[in-house]
Amino acid sequence: MKPVGLIYDPIFAEHDLGPGQPECPERLISILNALASFREDDRFIWVEPPEAQVKDIARVHDPAYIDWVCDTCAKGGSYYPALEGTLVPESYPAALKAAGAVILACDRVRSGEWGGGFAIVRPPGHHAVHNSAMGFCIFNNIAIGAKYLLEVKDVKSILIVDFDVHHGNGTQDAFYSDGRVAFFSTHQFPHYPGTGSKKETGVGEGSGATLNAPLQSGSDDGEMLLAFADQLIPWAEKRKPEIFLISAGFDAHSDDPLSALQVSTEGYRHIGQLLKAFADKHCQGRWVATLEGGYNLTALGASVKAFLEGMVEDG
Ligand SMILES: [Zn+2]
Repeated sequence: MKPVGLIYDPIFAEHDLGPGQPECPERLISILNALASFREDDRFIWVEPPEAQVKDIARVHDPAYIDWVCDTCAKGGSYYPALEGTLVPESYPAALKAAGAVILACDRVRSGEWGGGFAIVRPPGHHAVHNSAMGFCIFNNIAIGAKYLLEVKDVKSILIVDFDVHHGNGTQDAFYSDGRVAFFSTHQFPHYPGTGSKKETGVGEGSGATLNAPLQSGSDDGEMLLAFADQLIPWAEKRKPEIFLISAGFDAHSDDPLSALQVSTEGYRHIGQLLKAFADKHCQGRWVATLEGGYNLTALGASVKAFLEGMVEDG
């Protein structure tokens, strides 16, 4: 069986939004501790990522915004309201490596070297839009990975599933008129950032390529899994994706401080099993996941571990 790449770099824990912020470096310690047994497990291979190049970031973001991030981080210490946090000098190389981690995983999975890849990164990415940071996100890591596959690796059709409790507005925006990328999101609704209604389905060549499955406050494992089984799978099968990208946020957990959904740690194992079965059946087993949210430091590590165990089970 091909290994699953786990991509991590210590710089991800040096990016710091400031005191009291839920999107904190300790999140990564929770995950690394929970995944300690995976260090000796030959189903996984641990790799440090390269920095993404500016041209990779610029497939999604305005070059003037990229320059602004670079300059502002170098000065350090500035609070940026849309980000809801502070940029420090380490934030820029961390953001470049977070995008680089997703590109690396896409590359290795596309080439067939890895069966799958999980980028254990900060900052997260799915709220970041063309010309701005947003909601703890600087560069849209998964959108940058998808653009790399489309424009460098000649992939024709991609599926992105986002199960973070917040709608992946930046990712939706990046591909809203692009029929090559199907975007499906489950999220608490209404909730931050306010987008993600069922009425948002894409425009132009992207018409029908966006599918939002909003979940009411209090929804649990059953409702989340039903959204995948009843809405995602019949829709995504028809789109014939060559590779499956996943924005994996774990803030729908019942213990998470930023949401009112009730997904359990075991629920994330079932999500992993369901998504892996889809990847095996429709995408030659090719999947890449990247870390988005998840803010309860106990639940986060356990949920990531359960999800990854679901993703490596034999169908
Ligand atoms: Zn979130």
